[in-house]
Amino acid sequence: MTRVLVVEDDPQLARALVINLKARQFECLTAADGSTALRLVGEHSPDVVLLDLGLPDMDGTDVLRALRAWSRVPVLVVSARRTSDEKVAALDAGADDYITKPFSMDELLARLRAATRRTTPAATGAAGDRSLIVRTAAFTVDLLAKKVRRDGNDVRLTPTEWHLLEVLIRNRGRLVGQRQLLQEVWGPAYGTQSNYLRVYMAQLRRKLERDPSHPRHLITAPGMGYRFEN
Ligand code: CA
Repeated sequence: MTRVLVVEDDPQLARALVINLKARQFECLTAADGSTALRLVGEHSPDVVLLDLGLPDMDGTDVLRALRAWSRVPVLVVSARRTSDEKVAALDAGADDYITKPFSMDELLARLRAATRRTTPAATGAAGDRSLIVRTAAFTVDLLAKKVRRDGNDVRLTPTEWHLLEVLIRNRGRLVGQRQLLQEVWGPAYGTQSNYLRVYMAQLRRKLERDPSHPRHLITAPGMGYRFEN
């Protein structure tokens, strides 16, 4: 059974979420503020966190930052905020996905399933028969240890950024279509959300490329997809 921590200070919305999630066989914990949320993640190790950004005691992005210091639990941010700056700030702080209020229960469930699926490691080795260490002029990726190093330092990637990078590296030198990337990283329902790719590729370039506006390793084929080059 998948255990969800619902972090939401609106009691009616929290109750509606819990009723719907329990009806679909999720196990639910609830927190009405950020400090309770952090404590419950530590105590109960949920499989996924649904996080409202507007909380009474601290901002949701600060909850995320605090959480990411010690936990990789997938976090789906739920918010009424609509601007892309706020979306990028939440993703930068370590969110795996983002859903804007009001949302349909079906959409929420699809995203919850995608978020939890991403944390289940693939049965086969990610790198197949290729080397597990991939070097470029700018950074080094260890696929087995799931580590990226740049200029002698570890680069911290969110689980989604890592998954995206891993799919591109597994196909290195080859174009990976937008639909394939979206479906591999976000799940079957996401084949058309190319805006996700733009946001996450921009983040990856900012973290990895020497000159993010002129990428040498994370290449865009406009309108088609992306390609990793050593
Ligand atoms: Ca709120």
